[in-house]
Amino acid sequence: MQINPDFSLAAHNTLALAAQARAFARVESLDELRQARVWARAEGLGILPLGEGSNVVFAGDVDALVMQLASRGRQLLDSDDTTHCLRVAAGENWHAFVTWAVGQGYSGLANLALIPGTVGAAPIQNIGAYGVELEQFVEAVQVVHLDSGVEQTLSAADCGFAYRDSIFKRELTDVVVTAVDFRLPLKAPAQARYPSLAVYLEAQGITEPGGMDVYNAVVAIRGARLPDPATDPNAGSFFKNPVVAESVAKALAGQYSGMPTYPAGEGRIKIPAAWLIEQAGWKGEQRNGVGVHPGHALVLVNYGANSGARLLELARAIQLSVQERFGVALEMEPRVYGEVQGAAQGAGQ
Ligand SMILES: Cc1cc2nc3c(=O)[nH]c(=O)nc-3n(C[C@H](O)[C@H](O)[C@H](O)COP(=O)(O)OP(=O)(O)OC[C@H]3O[C@@H](n4cnc5c(N)ncnc54)[C@H](O)[C@@H]3O)c2cc1C
Repeated sequence: MQINPDFSLAAHNTLALAAQARAFARVESLDELRQARVWARAEGLGILPLGEGSNVVFAGDVDALVMQLASRGRQLLDSDDTTHCLRVAAGENWHAFVTWAVGQGYSGLANLALIPGTVGAAPIQNIGAYGVELEQFVEAVQVVHLDSGVEQTLSAADCGFAYRDSIFKRELTDVVVTAVDFRLPLKAPAQARYPSLAVYLEAQGITEPGGMDVYNAVVAIRGARLPDPATDPNAGSFFKNPVVAESVAKALAGQYSGMPTYPAGEGRIKIPAAWLIEQAGWKGEQRNGVGVHPGHALVLVNYGANSGARLLELARAIQLSVQERFGVALEMEPRVYGEVQGAAQGAGQ
């Protein structure tokens, strides 16, 4: 394992933001992870775990050892009549794993196809798409505590999963995920109720979709809809969909008749952040080399500024205008690292 000092992170985040890490190490095994940890402690440096950089904003240089998880492997842990439990290494590519799993008949994961990133990062924000969330399939998460080096198995309940959230974004930020154990049903019924998915399948004349149908549909819809980071550097949805009290949603719906709403549990309503941003006039807006994608109001794009600070200025301006117009707070989805003008930025976004 090599430790690279003063390492450029531009190729290691899908927003292509310019930032230098004090040091960078690509770790492929638990042994290498331990070595990198010991090195960082000796140097007095913190550690920032990184996967494929598809959900981070580098606001500036990162004064830490950036540890990219690159471990590989899948292992069958146990099985019963209806499920298999698989341990998958943190550095495996998420979409490659889903593709393999659906091909093997573990069809439940089909809705989560084509989400960028690694298996190890998937529990951090409990990735979700097309009506399915990761937590439905997690049996346990294997972690190493960065302060003590102690290894621990966390049950799914320990992980405190919620909408785009988990304990790893709150109380337990000082761990690195080394593997995820998935409990995969052998005959999961296809989950095809999500509106755009159902419409697509119907248009294809598929009335009783199987896992592979859902997988193909999700790949086709996402491929057509979402801006590709290779041409429009972005981090996917930049804001979470806000969840508000039913009374607040009713009052807003009275004022804005076209406002879409979705039930989000007892007395709670989810409002699409994209709708709020578009109504506030931001769709397609560009300033200082960053902007809001013209086809997708939730996606902020680096149009050449290469600056996390510029991107965060735009994000804050959007948050402010949505707050002023609708009284609704937008929370950022990606996590922010690095220093802007000498001020350290934390991870708790
Ligand atoms: C075009 C596009 C579309 C997207 N669509 C979706 C979507 O539909 N649904 C969705 O939920 N997300 C979506 N995302 C967000 C992103 O794909 C996920 O959050 C993904 O899980 C991030 O994986 P990563 O390996 O790139 O993580 P990174 O961006 O490298 O890291 C993200 C966070 O996790 C931490 N982290 C990474 N690996 C580890 C580890 N092994 N142990 C501990 N902490 C770790 C990092 O420190 C950081 O805080 C999208 C992103 C893009 C660019």
